[in-house]
Amino acid sequence: MISAIKVIRLHGHAVAQAEQADDVMIISTDFPDFQEKVTEFWTYGAKKRVFVSTPKSKWMIYGPLPRTIPILRMGDRIVELVSEFKPHQLLERKQRHLCDEASHRIAPCEGRAYPIHGTGGLLPSGAEISIDIDSNLMDELVEVQHSFLRRLQGINSRSMLAVLFSETGLMPIRIRRLLLALACLRYMIQLGEDRRVRWALLDSVDLFAAGKAGWAGDIAIMLRSLPTPICIAPADFLCLQSIEAIAKRVEEVVDADIQFDINFLQKTHLLRGRLELIEETGSARRRRHYLTMVPIPAHRIALTRLLLSDHNVSVERLRYASRTRRVVPREERLCRFCRAGVEEEVHALLLCKGHAPLLRLRESLLADIFHCDLPLRNAYGRLTTYEFLQLMVASRRAIWRVAKYVCDVLAIFDSFERYIPDGYSIVIRT
Ligand SMILES: [Zn+2]
Repeated sequence: MISAIKVIRLHGHAVAQAEQADDVMIISTDFPDFQEKVTEFWTYGAKKRVFVSTPKSKWMIYGPLPRTIPILRMGDRIVELVSEFKPHQLLERKQRHLCDEASHRIAPCEGRAYPIHGTGGLLPSGAEISIDIDSNLMDELVEVQHSFLRRLQGINSRSMLAVLFSETGLMPIRIRRLLLALACLRYMIQLGEDRRVRWALLDSVDLFAAGKAGWAGDIAIMLRSLPTPICIAPADFLCLQSIEAIAKRVEEVVDADIQFDINFLQKTHLLRGRLELIEETGSARRRRHYLTMVPIPAHRIALTRLLLSDHNVSVERLRYASRTRRVVPREERLCRFCRAGVEEEVHALLLCKGHAPLLRLRESLLADIFHCDLPLRNAYGRLTTYEFLQLMVASRRAIWRVAKYVCDVLAIFDSFERYIPDGYSIVIRT
């Protein structure tokens, strides 16, 4: 017979144990009672020929430590007392390794569906109830996602974060986990009054309403920490319509933040005012056609780098100082072939007349894309060169050919020495 004071209650209902798949959690407010429950569980397992691993089992003390730390035994072995327990840590490490391996081998169209996005290693079982209020604990997972997406897109490790999501349509892992928690909440709201999970939700909302820490309070903290904070009241936790509206608002806030970066960062000028056909409306994040419709990886990576200003053309490279050179003002970052204009993307691809092989490549490109996408022929000459470049990139029919052209042109520029105007070189004396 267990006394009433030792019983853990969820919204008034006694709960002694929680189970998920083959994991079991035993709880008590009193150590002798706790030891008795553990022994009973162990004996039951032995009778039923269920192996309970003592080395894998851990126990924790919540609240102030007792003067004498008791020893918990399972059978004749001692169970380790820990101050924290992260059962999915090993899985995350394995997943990091798999992601590293995989991102070298797979195309973006396949990588988008890789477990990093779904409920695999980065979202282990139980992620929806593990709210990430301590951002340090998520840093490793965030870094794995960033590194995976950069490798998938073929861009360097210093690239902007916004483009990792604007171009793939994926959601930052922190937000994805928050949305999973809200989806879990929607499920919990609809459960019957006899379900323990429902009791846990009601208990958590009681704690939140009383200003105490808990799962509901953690969700509220996460919502307040978004780029545009969202407030949630205790009553919202039990209202399906409110949670659905909040989940929608979370996506809108994240998209607005990504779009803000795209709109104001200098490097993303080619991603603004896109002319591509929009399949899904209202989202800054989309799986861009060029990531899936250019079959040759080298061509796709060259185009991606051009669009994300992660290329070797002078307008970008001379923006930064190096060991041997100072920063060159934009108007002096002239083309290495013709010096007739700033060596920028549109000049390199459509304007430069200073290198015969470039002109031949351009002639061949125009013939091919006019053949496979008639509207491009009609637009040529009517639009500005910059607009025509945007239209070329937006063309689903011609994108594979445009990507090949970008790859060839950037290779030509790479094979000739860059023009550095007088007065910016630094002489290194040894
Ligand atoms: Zn030129």
